[in-house]
Amino acid sequence: MKTKVAVAKGDGIGPEIMDAVLNIFKASGVQLDYEFVEMGKSYFDAGHSTGMTARAKETIENLGLLFKGPMETPKGKGVKSINVTARKVWNTYANQRDFRTLNGVNTVFSRAGVNINLTIIRENLEDTYGGIEHLLTNDVAVARRIITRPGSEQVIKYAFEMAKRKGYTKLACGHKANIMKLTDGMFLETFYEIAKSYPEIQATDIIVDDLCMKLVSRPETFEAIVLTNLQGDIVSDLCAGLVGGLGFAPSANIGDFISIFEAVHGTAPDIAGRNIANPTALLLSGVAMLRYLGLTENAATIENALLYTLEQGVHTGDFGDKNTPSSNTTDFANAIIANL
Ligand code: NAD
Repeated sequence: MKTKVAVAKGDGIGPEIMDAVLNIFKASGVQLDYEFVEMGKSYFDAGHSTGMTARAKETIENLGLLFKGPMETPKGKGVKSINVTARKVWNTYANQRDFRTLNGVNTVFSRAGVNINLTIIRENLEDTYGGIEHLLTNDVAVARRIITRPGSEQVIKYAFEMAKRKGYTKLACGHKANIMKLTDGMFLETFYEIAKSYPEIQATDIIVDDLCMKLVSRPETFEAIVLTNLQGDIVSDLCAGLVGGLGFAPSANIGDFISIFEAVHGTAPDIAGRNIANPTALLLSGVAMLRYLGLTENAATIENALLYTLEQGVHTGDFGDKNTPSSNTTDFANAIIANL
């Protein structure tokens, strides 16, 4: 029986890149069924306060898996980000973001022959993302940061398990416990407590500012890094820059019952509707989803076709040799299909 996955195409460039990715899946013979769900900006506009219909919520909860395009949250007070809501409602506590050097994607590191292969695990539910903010006076605003021991435990355990599964030898905890002694202090203490159960993985910690400096100077020395929510969000965009930009940054939001696979980037309103977006980040997120489902052969076939296409110098306009013509989204996807 085919596995069924909930799919939300998203807003902005979402439908363009999702169509490109699903065409590649189809051409590769992936045995998956899709149920398209109603979720995104137009559902806020239609009066659904969470940005999704009740049917969409039910479908995602039944299937346990959502393949998601980027979504826009309408601006204004009182409207919660649909992306943050989805992570919270379904308790997807670990956000995994994999970054690696891709042949054909020209960066300062690839030109220098430096090979990057690292994973960021970001805590996905706590920290300042609760949006608990208020004005103390007209001139003083306060935000509340929440870090809990159980919340830290579940994401740190996931990070060690992931490191073991991927054959990594070390895991670093990025933090600011020298200043935020109670919140980051608790996260760091939990990290070393859990590390005791994984003697085969070298556990180290690094202050987040030093981490940023070392990531831009010697990124090849890192394998996996676990961080709290806000620091993880910022550090992972830095890592996207190391490997060619947001067009190459896939992500998975992992929970015990529901997981969401999506690109790190947003709806790119500046290029939406022009068929020029880079579908690679969403495709790599889809490849990770196939592996998660145990469809490892399909995942490898698609990944190899993508890598070969990039090596051939085929590229969308956001990267690559500016002297060679760039492909649009459809042609880039077709080049991958031709290499399957
Ligand atoms: P963005 O990631 O959409 O765009 C930043 C820049 O990167 C833009 O110049 C854009 O053109 C470029 N870019 C992004 N993805 C690209 C791709 N695949 N190919 C080529 N270029 C690409 O960030 P933003 O402009 O800050 O946010 C736009 C909207 O997206 C906002 O409404 C934001 O809330 C939303 N957003 C959603 C998600 C999500 O759904 N997970 C994540 C981030 C932002």
